[in-house]
Amino acid sequence: MVAVITGGSRGIGLGIAKELLKEDFTVVLTSRNESEEVTELKAKYTNKVHFVSCDISKEEDINNLVSFVKDKFGKIDLLVNNAGVAPKERKDILTITGDDFDFVMDINLKGTFFVTQEFVPLLKKNEKSRIVNISSMSAYTASVNRGEYCISKAGISMITKLFATRLAEYGISVLEIRPGIIETDMTAKVKEKYEKMIDEGITPIRRMGKPEDIGKCVLSIAKGNFDFCTGTVIDCDGGFNVRCL
Ligand code: NAP
Repeated sequence: MVAVITGGSRGIGLGIAKELLKEDFTVVLTSRNESEEVTELKAKYTNKVHFVSCDISKEEDINNLVSFVKDKFGKIDLLVNNAGVAPKERKDILTITGDDFDFVMDINLKGTFFVTQEFVPLLKKNEKSRIVNISSMSAYTASVNRGEYCISKAGISMITKLFATRLAEYGISVLEIRPGIIETDMTAKVKEKYEKMIDEGITPIRRMGKPEDIGKCVLSIAKGNFDFCTGTVIDCDGGFNVRCL
């Protein structure tokens, strides 16, 4: 089985790749730059790990990625839309600029949409294929100091619903995973702040998540354990989603 993982060079994407490699998956990892960990993984799993440089905000890069996969495999079984960025700087929604907004939206939202659209022909080649969109608890949680990120993630929830509806007739299911606070480069700068919030009880499960927590959810979907589900959201967040009194 062949899986394409965007943003697969580090963090959550790499964690997903490592879980899939424990089973019978070949993975195509993409991001702008190949990381040392990807190079190591390629050496460890000969012919099972491929890397293609792709900035998902660039149409030409997406086309190159799809061509590579088409020429090499002719089809894919799983697409994981994981690539995403936080704002370069956290700014109040009353002061962000159009450029700030576009930077996040072009990658997180537009990139995810068009990567999905372009891979549909290769996903359609199987009787059953799956797409997993990595959104965030920010899809429904308002952070006024990174509003453009929240909007992009709320948009991914609609991308999930739209493609779930449109692609069901082709045997393609589309699920969304909403990670909570996960220990990666993205949260490194705010780790102390989040750890304090977790200690104070913001999540029922009192620890930060790890990339492998998300990887295990994706693996379960990839193995077909959720095949009567589409448009479904999985909160992998230590219980952040629970409102408590
Ligand atoms: P990360 O450690 O910063 O990794 C981000 C990945 O995306 C990297 O592989 C990066 O590689 C790639 N990427 C960035 N810009 C890209 C672009 N324009 N085109 C293609 N790839 C690009 O972040 P992470 O924490 O693993 O996050 C992964 C996903 O989970 C994101 O969508 C994020 O919003 C979401 N998420 C994370 C958390 C969290 O707490 N960490 C929580 C909720 C949701 P390059 O820089 O080489 O391109």
